[in-house]
Amino acid sequence: MTESTHYRICPLCEACCGLEIKLRDGEVTSIRGHDADVLSAGYICPKAVALKDLHEDPDRIRTPLIKRNGVFEPSTWDEAFAEIERRLPPVRATHGRNAVAITVGNPSAHKIGLLTYFGKLARALGTKNVFSASTLDQMPKQLASGLMFGHWLSVALPDISRTKLLIVIGANPLVSNGSMWTVPDFRGKAKALKARGGKLIVIDPRRTETAKVADAHHFIRPSADVFLLAAMVHTLFAEGLVKLGSTAAWVNGVEQVRAAVAPFTPEAAAPRCGIATNTIRELARQLANTERAAIYARIGTCTQEYGTAASWLVDVLNTLTGHVDQIGGVLFAKSAAFASNTTGKPGIGKGVTTGRHHARVSGAPEVYGELPITCLAEEIETPGKDQVRALFTVASNPVLSSPDGPRLARALDTLDFMVSMDIYVNETTRHADVILPGLSPLEDLHFDVAFPQLSWRNHARYSPPVLPPAPGQPQEWQTLLKLAAIVQGKGAACDAEALDDAQFAEDAQRLFGSHADAVIAATMALKGPERTLEVALRTGPYGDHFGQRPEGLTLAKVIASNPTGGIDLGELQPRIPEMLRTPSGKIELAPPLLLQDLQRATQDLRALAPDLVIIGRRDVRSNNSWMHNLPTLAKGPFRCTALVHPVDALRLGLKDGTQAHLRNGTRSVQAQVQISDEMMPGVVSLPHGWGHDRPGTQLHVAAERPGTNLNALLNDQSRDPVSGNAVLGGVAITMEAVVSGQCE
Ligand code: SF4
Repeated sequence: MTESTHYRICPLCEACCGLEIKLRDGEVTSIRGHDADVLSAGYICPKAVALKDLHEDPDRIRTPLIKRNGVFEPSTWDEAFAEIERRLPPVRATHGRNAVAITVGNPSAHKIGLLTYFGKLARALGTKNVFSASTLDQMPKQLASGLMFGHWLSVALPDISRTKLLIVIGANPLVSNGSMWTVPDFRGKAKALKARGGKLIVIDPRRTETAKVADAHHFIRPSADVFLLAAMVHTLFAEGLVKLGSTAAWVNGVEQVRAAVAPFTPEAAAPRCGIATNTIRELARQLANTERAAIYARIGTCTQEYGTAASWLVDVLNTLTGHVDQIGGVLFAKSAAFASNTTGKPGIGKGVTTGRHHARVSGAPEVYGELPITCLAEEIETPGKDQVRALFTVASNPVLSSPDGPRLARALDTLDFMVSMDIYVNETTRHADVILPGLSPLEDLHFDVAFPQLSWRNHARYSPPVLPPAPGQPQEWQTLLKLAAIVQGKGAACDAEALDDAQFAEDAQRLFGSHADAVIAATMALKGPERTLEVALRTGPYGDHFGQRPEGLTLAKVIASNPTGGIDLGELQPRIPEMLRTPSGKIELAPPLLLQDLQRATQDLRALAPDLVIIGRRDVRSNNSWMHNLPTLAKGPFRCTALVHPVDALRLGLKDGTQAHLRNGTRSVQAQVQISDEMMPGVVSLPHGWGHDRPGTQLHVAAERPGTNLNALLNDQSRDPVSGNAVLGGVAITMEAVVSGQCE
């Protein structure tokens, strides 16, 4: 009998907790928090334990599948690549490069191989039709941060361990442990905040788990955050509360903001957002008058038609109250590797430009090289030049996670060819012609590329694979390289790794000039993403610069720290101006794109609220669409319920535990009612990522309790026009009880 202990970063959500995993004879016997982990100190949530289920899931694909006569058949890797080579190049040759689209999903953010090599496939395709899950829930935050600070991962993060006041809007970090903010054990940190005399205030249309531990909670009408936030900014100017503090020399645009928020008096905003005028003023005063304070907002503020404007105003508030770049306010992480705000010339950069091309059908502007994923169905359906006729999906399930999934599902069936990289035959990949499986997380090495740039504390952690991959299973970066080579006409039989070596040598010449040979020699034992990581760490802000700073970081040192929980790089520290990458070298408080968008909100200031609107919600045992097949998480009370306030239930004749129709125009779904005074009257909440009752999927546990697909109710034409983000919340619906025997 062989027993071993391994330390692994959890890849299931943004919190990136450190795990201790025990094996006996190659089988997982326990998963718990790693007490020594420098970021999470032993904290985990229930999802981590389900990594065992995920690894052992009989539904997980372990060999490539090729669809023949409508049925998936197992194949070898060579057969699968040969099939792709047979069918994909003719589509490109006949219809052009934009005829092949690519989508990438949320799990890719947790896989260094996918994250660092996805771009190679996208570049090989050369298509404008690049889509990702970013335009479902986070592009507004990415864009607002980029326009203000110069890069989309330059996100202002609450200094949770030193602040005295934290205002949270449209986020539920007690359940999520942060989003665009890596903060494992938020509950413990909130408790510590209160223990040192600090305050937590939550603003949300639902009395969330976070709201329940807060000092105060205010209901807000969904989609009305922009009005609250603009009125808070208005109050700062009206009451002389603006004080920029030490960043004053680095802020552009204060007077433009003052003029832009002039129409948003608390009196005008209060009826629109459902928060009283004195509360709006008091929130602004508390933020301004508390020495160490921060305001943070996420999903709820992003998944609406004013997502970018709302995300921007959050950091306008942080800046105007002097809390940006302040200890106890909001700070910027300094990541050990891959951060654009630690490379290039300090304090200045190219900034952000959007609309370099546009979606063919809707005209939606490109943002960070992507088009809105809600454009995908119409790009497939609409004839003409550049019509999408083939698709790659990479760890992406837009049929469930994107508005009007049923329309997208119908569109996918019309494609000439579709390839998916995925571990399941799910609601999207069932439409593919070829599915190429990825690794189980326990078979993969791990280093977070993005999340150390969003972490509450600076750190560097690496996890080696816990278990070996199945014989013949390539690493995901190798699969992406092979696909790129096929697209480039180099053939399925080519040596993709040799091509990668050649590309690395070329890049090294460009980046390191006369030192290139030394860099190549120093990294020659490594391949793929590990080689990329070694270079990024050694040339990063803590790196050894290939021997010039011998005490600095190398990959070997980070690997060696794995059993002791990684390398702690300390609390976040003020970084302005060196972290700025705007062309002006300043914080751009008034980007023209957002000033213009605020005028749109001005026109909408006096609109009447619908009687009933719907929002989503996060559950600790779920994360988007892909964890419902894991028995550990699927058990327990049914969670895909429509929460309805008792007053609404009474007026609509809805009873707890019964079924109701939810309708949005011609779209309708049926869901189980759960009456709850957690909800703001006039607001219904249904979690997304459910609806596992589609034919042809192979998710047997999920199919037992499929739940309702919220996105089937939503319109794929509703977007935040600035970022292209889907509108997922604040959508007007009607609701009525299902009469016994009645069908949709
Ligand atoms: S919060 Fe849970 S799912 Fe997220 S990283 Fe930590 S253990 Fe994993």
